[in-house]
Amino acid sequence: MKKEDIQTYNYCDNINAYQRRQTVIVNIGGVPMGGDNPIRIQSMTTVDTMDTEGSIEEIIRMVESGCEYVRITAPSKKEAENLQEIKDGLRARGYNVPLVADIHFTPNAAEVAAKIVEKVRINPGNYADKKKFDFIEYDDATYQAELDRIREKFIPLVEICKEHGTAMRIGTNHGSLSDRILSRYGDTPLGMVESALEFLRICDELDYHEIVLSMKASNTQVMVQAYRLLVQKMEEEGLKPYPLHLGVTEAGDGEDGRVKSAVGIGTLLEDGLGDTVRVSLTEAPEAEAPVAEALIKRYDNRSTESKSINTPITSSPKNPFKYERRVTKEVATFGDHNVPRVIANFSQIEEITMKNLKVIGHHYLPATDKWAMSDHGADYIYTGKKALPFMAPNGLKNIVDASSWNSTEDTYPLFELDQYLNSEEVHQELNFVRVSFEAIDEATLTSLKQAENVVLIIHTENAHAMPELRALLFKLYSEEIKIPVVIERSYENLTDDQLQLYSSTDIGGLLIDGLGDGVMLSTTHTLEATEFCNRLSFGILQAARTRMTKTEYISCPSCGRTLFDLQETTAMIRQRTDHLKGVKIGIMGCIVNGPGEMADADYGYVGSGKGKITLYRGQEVVKRSVPEADAVDELIKLIDEDGNWFAPQQEVVQ
Ligand code: SF4
Repeated sequence: MKKEDIQTYNYCDNINAYQRRQTVIVNIGGVPMGGDNPIRIQSMTTVDTMDTEGSIEEIIRMVESGCEYVRITAPSKKEAENLQEIKDGLRARGYNVPLVADIHFTPNAAEVAAKIVEKVRINPGNYADKKKFDFIEYDDATYQAELDRIREKFIPLVEICKEHGTAMRIGTNHGSLSDRILSRYGDTPLGMVESALEFLRICDELDYHEIVLSMKASNTQVMVQAYRLLVQKMEEEGLKPYPLHLGVTEAGDGEDGRVKSAVGIGTLLEDGLGDTVRVSLTEAPEAEAPVAEALIKRYDNRSTESKSINTPITSSPKNPFKYERRVTKEVATFGDHNVPRVIANFSQIEEITMKNLKVIGHHYLPATDKWAMSDHGADYIYTGKKALPFMAPNGLKNIVDASSWNSTEDTYPLFELDQYLNSEEVHQELNFVRVSFEAIDEATLTSLKQAENVVLIIHTENAHAMPELRALLFKLYSEEIKIPVVIERSYENLTDDQLQLYSSTDIGGLLIDGLGDGVMLSTTHTLEATEFCNRLSFGILQAARTRMTKTEYISCPSCGRTLFDLQETTAMIRQRTDHLKGVKIGIMGCIVNGPGEMADADYGYVGSGKGKITLYRGQEVVKRSVPEADAVDELIKLIDEDGNWFAPQQEVVQ
C-alpha cells in the first residue's frame, strides 16, 4: 500500500483514544439522539400492530426494560392508521416513549405513519422498488432515470416529515438491496452505503436533516465495514455527520445472539461510532434492552479510565472496508492458512485429571480407554508451572511457563519478552512470547524481525483494550513482521453476560479485521469458568466468521408480521440440526422481508402464510406452502438431498 493511501481511511475521529464521533442532534419526540446525548437504546414490538392492547402492553414491558424508542411494523395503511390508537393508549397510561414506524414496500403507509409517530424507518432497498432479482445493465442515463423515479416517490414523505417534525431512519439491510444497487455495486458494503446515500442526497437537497442511518447485516464483517464506509463517504461528500443506529440483523438467540451482536456493535462502539443501539435477538423484545445497555455502559467512563495509546500510527494501515487477514508465516499450527487456534488456560487449576479435559471438549472414555473430541475441542492447553500429568489426547498440545519448561518433555514454552530475548534455549518448532503494547519498541521490533518459531501472545491492562491490542498489531503490520499472534484477554468480576459481551467486543473486534491467529480467554480459574471461556472462544471465532465450528442460525427477531412462534420454532430446528457444523440456516418470520434478510444462509425456513412454510436452498424457493407440522422434517430432507445431513453422534461421556 502506498503511504498516501493510508491517510484516506477516515472512518472515525480517533483510532487510539476513545472519542465519540461528533454527530448532529436529531429530535425524536422528547428524546433527542446524537451529539452529546447518551447512546440510546431501542427495540421493536413482536405482536400484530392491529392488536392495540397487546401492542401497548408489550411496549410498556419494553420501556420498563430500558427501551427509549419503540419501533412498530406498519406493513400497510391499516396498521399505519392503528399507530394512532397505540400512541393514544400509551399516552393515556403515562408513557411518552417515542414511536417509530417500520416501513417496507409501502410509501402510502409511511406517509400516514409520518403524521402520527415521532420517526419513520424506511428501507432504501424496497421503498420505491419491488425486488425481482433482475440483473439490469444501467448506463448513466438509465440509472439517472431510476433515481428520478425514486425521487418522485420519496419526496412526499420528506415533505410530510418536515411539516410534522418527524424524524427518519434510512435503514439499509444487506439482505434487501434493490436490483438497481445490486446490478451496479453488487452485494457489497459499498452497495449498502450507496443505497442509503441515494435517499440521503434527496433529503439534503430538500433541506431535511432529522435523519439517522443504519447499515445492518447478519454478517458482522460486512456490517462493520459498511458503517465505517458510510461515515467516510458522508464526510467525503460534505454531508452532515448524521447519527448512526447500530445493529446486527438476525443475530439469533441466547449466547450466539449476544456474541454476534457484541462482535458487530461493540467493534463500532470502541471507535466511538453509534448513537443508538438495537440488539436483535430471537427472544422476547424486553430481553434486548438489557443487552444493549450492558454494551453501551462500558463507554460511560472509557475516556477517563483508559490510558492513551502512544503510537505514530493514527490511521488504519490496512483497508478497514474489506476483510483481509494479516499476512503471517506458518509457525507450527498458527498463522498463514491455519484457522485461529484456541488455547485453554488451566494454569491456576491445581490437579488436572483426564476427566477435567471434558470442559475443553476432550472426552476420556474409561470403558474403552479412548479419547473423543467435540467440535469445541481446544487446540492447546496452557498449564502454567507444570506439564499435564498424562499424555495429551487428540492432538491437544501443552504449553508451560518457560521457567518450568523441560526440553525433553512434549511441551512448548511460554516466555515473557525479556526472558525470551535473554534465553539460551528455545524450542525448535514453537515458542510463545507474551508481550504488551508498551514492550514493542524499536529494539524489540528489530529482534522480532529475526525471530523464528515464535508466536506472540498479546495482552493489555488498558481499559481501551481492543484499540491498544490493535495498535500493537498495526505496528507489526506496518513493519511487515509476519509473526502469528494470539489475542489474550483475562477478565475479573464480571457476570456471564458481561463476559460474553466484553470478550466478544475485544477479541471479535480484531478478528473481523483479519487480525489474530489465536485466542486465549480466561476469567476466574474454575473448571466451570474454563468451560465457559472455551465455548465462548469458539463462539467469538464463529461470530467473527473466522472459524466455523457449529451450525449458524440466522433467525429474525420477529415483529408484527411474524407468521409462527419464532422462539419455539428456532429451538425446535436447533434441537434437530445443531450438529451440522458450518451449515447456515435462516429462520424468518415472513416472506416479505425474510428471504432478503437471510442473505447468505444455505437453507431458509420462512413463514409464507398462516401455518404455511416455504423452504429455500440459498435464495431459491424449493418447497412452497409446506404445512408447519411437517416443515422441519421437510427441511431436514432437503439438507439430506444435498448430502449435508448426517445423524447426530450419541455422546458417550462418563
Ligand atoms: S423477517 Fe421477521 S422481523 Fe423481519 S419483517 Fe419478517 S417477521 Fe418481521
